[in-house]
Amino acid sequence: MRHTDVAIVGGGLAGSIVAAMLGRSGVDVVLIDPHTIYPPDFRCEKLDGMQVEILQKTGLADAVLRAATHDRESWVSRFGRVVEKRRGDQHGIRYETLVNTIRGEIPGGVTFIHAKAQAISTSADHQLVTLSNGWQVCARLVVIANGLNVGLGHKLGMTREVLSASHSISIGFDATPVGRPKFAFPALTHYSESAAARMAYLTLFPIGGAMRANLFGYRDMNDPWLRELRQAPQQTLFAAMPGLRGIMGDFEVTDRVQFRPVDLYATKGHLQPGVVLLGDAFATSCPAAGTGARKALNDAERLGNIHIPHWLATPGMGVDKISAFYDDPVKQACDESSLAKAYELRSLTVDAGLPWVARRWIKFGGQLARGSIRQTRGRLAARSPQRPAAALAGRSS
Ligand SMILES: Cc1cc2nc3c(=O)[nH]c(=O)nc-3n(C[C@H](O)[C@H](O)[C@H](O)COP(=O)(O)OP(=O)(O)OC[C@H]3O[C@@H](n4cnc5c(N)ncnc54)[C@H](O)[C@@H]3O)c2cc1C
Repeated sequence: MRHTDVAIVGGGLAGSIVAAMLGRSGVDVVLIDPHTIYPPDFRCEKLDGMQVEILQKTGLADAVLRAATHDRESWVSRFGRVVEKRRGDQHGIRYETLVNTIRGEIPGGVTFIHAKAQAISTSADHQLVTLSNGWQVCARLVVIANGLNVGLGHKLGMTREVLSASHSISIGFDATPVGRPKFAFPALTHYSESAAARMAYLTLFPIGGAMRANLFGYRDMNDPWLRELRQAPQQTLFAAMPGLRGIMGDFEVTDRVQFRPVDLYATKGHLQPGVVLLGDAFATSCPAAGTGARKALNDAERLGNIHIPHWLATPGMGVDKISAFYDDPVKQACDESSLAKAYELRSLTVDAGLPWVARRWIKFGGQLARGSIRQTRGRLAARSPQRPAAALAGRSS
């Protein structure tokens, strides 16, 4: 039996951040995860500016950014035309590198037990976690951050409500240009050119020396199009997005094409004494909308900086304390906007109704105007000898 203040079940993105934050502030923490090193996993592969901002509040951003690749400049194309070249704010990083880098920031005082949590019993004072190696951990609070794994929650009487089954599909591969040393763009987001393609966008961004591609869309796993994409990536992609050929040029896929379907779900019955759920363990969001990692980061930051230190300051761990996290307006706003974006992007991509077609063109016009203004400003600044620092074309306004 190991006694501790906080037992964290799951050392993925969310759990590792909370372990590092609490460990650094001197809280007695036990982290439980079966993997000594987080294994290769196709998940979130880049962090945008907003995600980095949240990470900064956890004190872990510097380590993560050192392990990531900054894209520096990012092109955006809509309807087959480059509409904007803007200063990049994306950092490419493989998911396992992200998690293992954060784990590397967990101080030595945190006990890491390499096992699975098999059962949890809870009360308003003490929680008991039973592990696959026969050990038990007694904690004041259990943080459940075990991602998509549903078993533990079920044992606590929690259920998962599927909000949208097979909501989207994420596709990942490494792309190499053929017949030339590099692509014309440092990074590119190419939005789909027609609703019939059922693809939201392709994003290409550097990770180390490789150009990583993430393609997000709305197709069933049994759709023959996915098989065609695996067999003939360039041909299939250019047929679905004809304007991409002129921007991307010939390319080949240098590793396997990975596919991951994603369901949107939310947990019910989660408000219980002594236990709190975060990240995917609480609810998923759509990778295409780019908000899954933001939700996990936001949950971890709010728990690690605000709620858990406050809860530990007084005896007991009743639902009055736990509900403060689920009612946190910052968390609620993040969760609600993630869900709204998931549905909005889907409609924007596949809906052939007039309002959605109009919205696609409005987005095109808006981005084209922004891109032109930015380019003109860049040119003017480059000509002005008084403002050499502003001479960066594509600088954010
Ligand atoms: C294909 C794909 C692409 C994505 N792309 C993006 C993107 O571009 N942008 C974005 O913002 N989001 C994206 N997401 C979402 C994002 O990756 C996830 O929301 C986020 O990583 C969830 O982190 P987590 O810590 O909740 O879960 P995880 O990182 O999955 O961690 C769960 C951990 O729990 C452990 N565990 C499980 N069961 C037990 C147990 N019984 N006992 C102990 N430990 C256990 C596991 O070993 C694991 O370490 C993507 C997701 C997918 C699937």
